[in-house]
Amino acid sequence: MIRAFAHDRFTYPLPDDHRFPLGRYRRLREAIEAQGIARVEEAPAATDDDLLLAHDAVYLERVVAGRLTEREQKAVGLPWSPELVERGRRSVGATLAAARAALDDGTGVNLGGGTHHAFPGAGKGFCTFNDVAVAVRRLRDDGAIGRALVVDLDVHQGDGTNAILGPDPLTTCAGLNGGANYPFRRVPGDVEEDLPDGTGDDAYLAALERLLPVALDRGRPDICFYLAGADPYEDDRLGRLALTMHGLAARDVMVRDCMRLQGVPVCVLLAGGYGRRIEDTVAINLATVSSFAGY
Ligand SMILES: [Zn+2]
Repeated sequence: MIRAFAHDRFTYPLPDDHRFPLGRYRRLREAIEAQGIARVEEAPAATDDDLLLAHDAVYLERVVAGRLTEREQKAVGLPWSPELVERGRRSVGATLAAARAALDDGTGVNLGGGTHHAFPGAGKGFCTFNDVAVAVRRLRDDGAIGRALVVDLDVHQGDGTNAILGPDPLTTCAGLNGGANYPFRRVPGDVEEDLPDGTGDDAYLAALERLLPVALDRGRPDICFYLAGADPYEDDRLGRLALTMHGLAARDVMVRDCMRLQGVPVCVLLAGGYGRRIEDTVAINLATVSSFAGY
């Protein structure tokens, strides 16, 4: 059974109907446990040493001490609290643990993560620390991986990840983005395509079919970080694309089978999801985890 790392107990006191619906994480974990889809474990907290692999010491110090300016907190979109810092550490720790599980078992899941808008010295777009950047550098330092591939299918461009890992010749940052969507100032990735508003299943899957071989052509990765964003969904409040649940499931299968064919372990991250109905976001995430669990 695959392993999944949860951090919903380290939560932030906001109601479900907020723009950033944290209740999705608890509901997803409960559904996975009830259906026996994965073995759920508590996410460890990333240490300062881990976080400093991708973040400036001064930024980390200011985040931990709650000394971000109002403007900086506004960019993150969530007001500072000690719980927010702990949640950030657990989110990165979950990605690191899931990546190690992937290297051991072929697949590992973070029931959250995908905080791709965090830069070395700044957070934004609900992201304080960049989980994938920390994990790539930690695993590389440990000698566990050489080449890494990031397949970012959250609808928003992974600007922070591109900024941190873009210059790394052993990491390929690939993604499909909503062309008219946030972030409005881009940091180019290695392989990416911008899609117009309203893009549906067929055009999206065709773009993904173009993207994956080009990304893999840059060298066989030792691990793939897959940001399985639920926000390209047609009823997402922030997504602007028009994928159905069926299309999103086909997307997951395409990534899964492509990586399996190459023997590349996959660390699955949930990234964004702002469905008008929280049940839809949970259902999309559950389908992703089930798909990678082999159900
Ligand atoms: Zn997103």
